[in-house]
Amino acid sequence: MSVELDQQVGNSLYEKSLDCVHCGLCLTSCPTYLETGRETSSPRGRIYLMRGVAEGRLSVSETLSEEAFLCLGCRACETACPSGVRYGEMLEETRALVVGAGARRGPSAVLERWGLRLVASPRALHAAVALLGGLQRLGLDRLGLQLLPASLRARLGGLVPVVPPAAERKPLPEWFPAEGVRRGRVALLSGCVMSELFGSVHRATLRVLARNGFEVLVPRTQGCCGALHAHSGDDARAAELARVNLQAFAEVDTIVVNSAGCGAAMRDAGHWLPGEGEAFAAKVRDIAEFLDDVGIIQPKGRLEATVCYDDPCHLLHGQGVGPAVRRLLEAIPGLELLAHREADRCCGAAGIYNLTQPEMSAAVLARKLDALAETDPDIVATGNPGCLMQIAAGLTARGLRARAVHPIELLDEAYGRADEAPGTQPAIP
Ligand code: SF4
Ligand code: SF4
Repeated sequence: MSVELDQQVGNSLYEKSLDCVHCGLCLTSCPTYLETGRETSSPRGRIYLMRGVAEGRLSVSETLSEEAFLCLGCRACETACPSGVRYGEMLEETRALVVGAGARRGPSAVLERWGLRLVASPRALHAAVALLGGLQRLGLDRLGLQLLPASLRARLGGLVPVVPPAAERKPLPEWFPAEGVRRGRVALLSGCVMSELFGSVHRATLRVLARNGFEVLVPRTQGCCGALHAHSGDDARAAELARVNLQAFAEVDTIVVNSAGCGAAMRDAGHWLPGEGEAFAAKVRDIAEFLDDVGIIQPKGRLEATVCYDDPCHLLHGQGVGPAVRRLLEAIPGLELLAHREADRCCGAAGIYNLTQPEMSAAVLARKLDALAETDPDIVATGNPGCLMQIAAGLTARGLRARAVHPIELLDEAYGRADEAPGTQPAIP
C-alpha cells in the first residue's frame, strides 16, 4: 500500500529508531516474540519495520499493520532496553500512521472503533453497562450472548464482567473530607470503565486517602483519559480527551490515579499536547506511589491471607512503579506477599487486546496462570481494570481459588478491620 507519509511522523519515527542498536536484549522480555519466535513480532523487528517506513524503503503494508496491532503495547521492551528506546511513543505513532493510511481493517478494527466510541461517551457507556447488568440480573445475559455473531461470541467468551450493584455505579461525591489531621488536598481521576465497573475500588481509594489525612476532589467535568484511543492510533481523539481533563484538573497540584493504564496515558499527555500537556502530566501520581511517598498511617487490622502482586505493565513499565505497591502490601499485618515468576509479564488484557487478538491474549495469559497455579495464593492483587478482569476470568476458567482485587482494597480492608465497631468506616454516598 503506497501512501504519502506524514513528514512530521516520519521524521519523529526515524529519529527515535536511531536509538535502537539492534542488540536484541529486549527479545526475551517480549511476550509476542516468546509466543511466535518471529523476529518481526519482536521489538527489534518492529522497530526495523518502522524505520523502513520512515526512510521510505518500505510501504505501510499489511505486515506493519499486523505487527503494530499484534504488539501488546506492554512496554516491557522499554524496561529491558539499555539504549533508552522510546518504544511506546513509536508504537503509537506507527499505529496512527497505519490507521491514517486505511491499513487497519477487519473485524478487530470494527470492534475497536465500537469500543472506543463507547468509552468516550459516559452516557452511552453507563446505559450499556446498565443494560448488561439488567440482563445479568434476569439471567438473560447468556441468551443475549447467543444472539451475537459467533466470532464476537467467541471473543467475548468469559470476559464479560459481572456488573456491580447500582449503588457502586453512582457518581462519587465531588468532595470527600480528610480524617484527623489534614495533610493536603488531591484530586481523583474517576475515568470511564473504573467508574462503571470498579466503583468499590474508587470508594476504597477515597477512604484510604481520607484516613491518611487527604481531602479529595472528584471534578464532575472530567472524563475518559484517552488511553485506549492513543493506543489504537487515534491521537486526535486522545488529545481532545486529554484537553478536557487538563481543564477539569486545572485547580489541583496532584491528580491521584488508581488505574495503571489511565495513569500511564496521562503521564504521556505531553506527547499529544506539547507544552500544556507536560505540566498536566507532572501532576499525575499513581495511588500506591503517592501513598508510599507521603508515608501511610500504619494499618492495624489483620488480613490473614497470602497474596501475589501482579505488576500491571502500564504501572511497572509505563510509570516505573513496582516496589511501592509491594511496600504498601507488606505494611498490612498478617498479609503474606508471595513472589510468582510471571509477575512482571503482561497478562494479555492490554486495553481491549483480549477482544481484538483473542488467541495471542489467551496464550500470554496462560503463562501467567501457570505461574499462579504453582504459587497458589489466596489473593491476586493488581492495579488496573483490564488486568483485574482478565486475571479474574483466567482464575475462574482455570478453577484456581484466588480472587483478584486491587491493592488499595486490601489496604482499605485492613484499616476497616481495625475500627472499633463494624460499619464505622465513613459512608460514601
Ligand atoms: S510493547 Fe510488549 S509486545 Fe510490544 S514489542 Fe514491546 S515487549 Fe513486545
Ligand atoms: S534492547 Fe533496545 S537497543 Fe537492543 S534491540 Fe531492543 S530496542 Fe533495540
